[in-house]
Amino acid sequence: MRILVDVDDVLADMLIVFEQHLSAMRVEIKPPHERPGTFELESEYGITTAMKKAVFRCIDISTLPAFPDAIDFIYSVTRRHEVYFVTSYIEGIPLWKHHREKWLREHFQSLSTRVVHTKHKHLISGDVLIDDCLRNVFGWLQEHPTGTAFVPPKSWNRYIHREGGDIHKRIIRTNSWADIEQEIERLSHEGR
Ligand SMILES: [Mg+2]
Repeated sequence: MRILVDVDDVLADMLIVFEQHLSAMRVEIKPPHERPGTFELESEYGITTAMKKAVFRCIDISTLPAFPDAIDFIYSVTRRHEVYFVTSYIEGIPLWKHHREKWLREHFQSLSTRVVHTKHKHLISGDVLIDDCLRNVFGWLQEHPTGTAFVPPKSWNRYIHREGGDIHKRIIRTNSWADIEQEIERLSHEGR
């Protein structure tokens, strides 16, 4: 099976760093129930593109904290499956891709070369996508009719069933990396 894995807010904790910077910039951070529930972290805060770029200019993404269970998951599934890191970037942040690759090297050594930097994740073929961003998930599932997507729960993907029609039958929203791994093995044995 070919497994495509997003990085921000799946393997790396962008949210905590993003919120720290918003707080330092004195941008009001509303609790999740007061946010509109859009598809991504940034749009949920209702911040402008310029402000978003200002925040990301201050963040060195090579220092983002990792989610340890997620790192262990990658090492485990890599023994049996092909894993690729499929990660988006912000225009106008010149060192973004360099810092992303540095982060991947630190956490995954030689596996880190398996990276695709793209905003167009639907173009990347695979059997499974793991991504917190519903726009990516819906777009990818439309292009991959036999694909399955796993969505780590975040406040911005809580309205998952409002969109996507029947496609959400191929989405599993779970916090449990053990459940994701078990489901991948089941799909693999089914020959998907
Ligand atoms: Mg993400």
